[in-house]
Order: sequence, then structure tokens, then C-alpha cells
Amino acid sequence: MKATIRIGILVAIILTLAGGMAFAGDAICLELDGKLIETDVAPIIENSRTLVPYRALLESMGAEVSWEQEAEMATAILGSHRVQVTIDKTTAFVNGVTKEMDVPPRLINNRTMIPLRFVLENLKCTVDWNNDTRTVIINSPKTDGPSEIRTIAYEETDDSYRIIARGSEAIKNTRTFAYEGPERYGIDIFNAAFPDRVGSIKADNQVFSGVRFSQFDDDTVRIVVDLNEKVAGKVSLSEDRSEVYIDFDKPGSEGNRGHEGEDEQNPGEVNEDLQGILPELDWRATGKLIAIDAGHGGADPGATGKINGKEVLIERDLNLAIALRLHQLLDQAGANVVLLRDSDITMSLYSRPEAANTMNADLLISVHNNSAHNSTSNGTEVLYYDKVGIESYGITSKELAAYIQKELVAEIGLKDRGIINCPHLAVLNKSLMPAVIIEGGFLSNPDDLAVMLTEEFKEAYAVAAARGIINSLNAWADR
Ligand SMILES: [Zn+2]
Repeated sequence: MKATIRIGILVAIILTLAGGMAFAGDAICLELDGKLIETDVAPIIENSRTLVPYRALLESMGAEVSWEQEAEMATAILGSHRVQVTIDKTTAFVNGVTKEMDVPPRLINNRTMIPLRFVLENLKCTVDWNNDTRTVIINSPKTDGPSEIRTIAYEETDDSYRIIARGSEAIKNTRTFAYEGPERYGIDIFNAAFPDRVGSIKADNQVFSGVRFSQFDDDTVRIVVDLNEKVAGKVSLSEDRSEVYIDFDKPGSEGNRGHEGEDEQNPGEVNEDLQGILPELDWRATGKLIAIDAGHGGADPGATGKINGKEVLIERDLNLAIALRLHQLLDQAGANVVLLRDSDITMSLYSRPEAANTMNADLLISVHNNSAHNSTSNGTEVLYYDKVGIESYGITSKELAAYIQKELVAEIGLKDRGIINCPHLAVLNKSLMPAVIIEGGFLSNPDDLAVMLTEEFKEAYAVAAARGIINSLNAWADR
């Protein structure tokens, strides 16, 4: 009985602390899959929404939960679904896409209290309320997937040959692969079932002769494309993640790479000017989508470099110039690359990882330069944060950071500050793919600034970043 008394005291404390919150009568019970669950802090009701301590409940249903102290953000992953909420903010991220809640999560008595229905329904649980017993009745998702692949179809669009796999549920993750002799390109859809077991489509187009698919193992559906030549497909997902698209650019079409008028070369065709400058990109990695973020922009200038009190360099402009060149280099190397901003516009910090998530980018590269309050800090560093649940990309943020830092230091020649784990930066922790922030040099350091004012610096930065990215993609292809 002691436990009950203690809970009673805690509830009293919450009531005292949480002035404006209405607490309706008796305690609220939580029932998960037919069993009552005990939480150390009792659920409360705010604006007709039930708030529950998130860790106790979610862990008892087998969800993976984590807490980021600086961002005050709680993350829950259950099966293929991920919900992220922040204390006192009504904006949540559901599978990386923003959604609004009626009431925000609260920090009460050192416990994160989350809006129960919002979080659980977005984790695909069902939530009911029994008013007589004052019990919240929760049922976990019937199964943790698998997504049943109902159809696999082939269609020709204006500029691509497309294979579409339609699933019954959101698809958690996929992995692409490629083989030579004979050339094949394929994708594994994890946590998926294909009731027909095997199937095939004949497709006599310029790029491939056919598509085969099968239940590869207990929970993986494999699609293999028999290629006529060495070309990689580009994989994307529908917004609700229930459909997977594999697109092969039609030879001669611009595909979805690059920007109008920038170059006329065909996809996969490598520009001769790059010989000796960049390593050759493994054809098997050419479908991986690289999102490049030019840091700051528009109303946000970032750091400024001054000589004798006069502004001589603005980070916003420097980052953009480097990002444009990096994009051009990777594009010419045959990579699948997109810029999040290609002009001097204002973009919020959060919109950058969100944009990369929405386009299902495989890598996110954020181009920045540094500054400090003192004028002595100098050198080059790359920031990363190794997130959970992204193993299927085949390369981690830390590895990506190391590949890029190595090239930057060799090419630019500023002090090597190494790679740094930074869990609290939005670009790194809100993105769902391996991501890094490059800090080329310090605008606040006179020696770095003198280097950074040169054209050679921008070129060296872009070339080195492109090399590091290509090296990491090639390493991925070899795995
Ligand atoms: Zn910056």
C-alpha cells in the first residue's frame, strides 16, 4: 500500500506545481494490451488531453525511447514509426515530418509528460477511454509490420523508367545494392512481406530488361533489376512511406539532377575536366541522394570576418559560393545531388533537416564556416552526430565526417581540429540520414580569414568536400 500512498503524494505535488491544469477527479488508469500499467508519476489531464510519463509507458510497450537534454526532446521509435516531441512545444515530428498537437509535452516533477493519444496513435497504437473506470485502454499495433507488398509495377514516365512497390504499411527502411557481371541493381525492403513469394516483370527499355522480386528471407522483400548497362536507380518513398519508387533516368534525359542549363551531360556521364581532381564515383553509388545545405542565408548572415573593424567577409555568402561549387563538382562526377538553397534566401534551421527528410536524402552535408569570441581559435573541423537506427545507410555520420575532414585538412591546409560529436545541433539530430556540418575555417581568426578571402580557399573547400563524399559513397558501395 505504500506505493499507492507515494503516488498520492506525487499527484498532490503535481497539482500544486501545475496550477492552471485541471485534474479531473479520481486517478487515471492505464491499460496496455489488457494489463494495467503502473507509472511512478500519475497521468494528468490538461485541456481534455491526457498527459502520461513517456518513458514508463513507452518502454513497457517495447518502444525505443531516448531523451536529448539540450533540445528537451523525447524520441520514441516503435516498429517503423518515430515520434519526436519537445517540452512546451506543440510541434512534433512524425517520421521526420512536422505535425501540430493540441497540448505540448510538459516537464513535471522531472518527468516528461507526453500527450498520450497523439503520440500513441502516431506510433500506430489504438487508444480508447473508459469513462466509468477512468481507464485509458491502449492496444499496441497488431504486428510490428511487416508491410505487405501488395503490388510491384513498372511504368515509364517522361524522363525515367520507374518501378513501384506498394505496401500496406509504412516501410521502415530499405537498402540498395548493385552487382557486376551481369549488371544488376536491387533494393531490399526490410520488415516486409510479399504474399505471392515470387514474381517478375518483363521490361524492354534502354536501361533494363526485366525486374524480378521475391520474399528474400523472413522479413525482407528483394527487388532485382537486370540492367543492360552500369546505371544505378534512385530510390524514393511516398510521403506516408508506404510506396517505394526506384527510378532509372532515361538516357539523354536530364533526370532530376542538376539545374536547368547548368550542364548538358547525360546522367552518369563523368565530365572530363574532373580527371585527377576527384576520385571516380562507383557507379553503384550514383543513385544515392546527397543533399547540400548552404548554412545561413538571407536575413541570417552567420559569422562575419572583419579587418580593422570593417566587414570583409560574410559567412552566408561564402557558404553559398562553396555549396554551389560543391554541387557542381558532385553533379559533374555523376552523383545524385540537390541543393537545399541555391540563392540568398532565409531558411529556418529546422527546415533544413526537414527538407532532407522529405526528399529521403541519403546524406546531408551542411556547409559552414566558424567563428569564436576570441580571435585565437582557428582551423577546420567537421561536426557529426551518430543517430540510432540508420545502419541501413551503410555509412555512419562519424565515418562520413572522418572522410571529409581528412580531405579538407590536406587540401586547405588549416589547423586540423578533428571531427566532433555534437548531439544537440538540429541539422544533425533532426535529420534521419547520416549528416555532417563542415566548418572550414574561423572568420574570427586573422590568419584563417586571410586564407578564406581567397578564391583558392573556396575551390579547395569544395574539392575536398566532394572527395570526402565520393570516398564515403565508394566505401558504401564496396560493403
Ligand atoms: Zn555557420
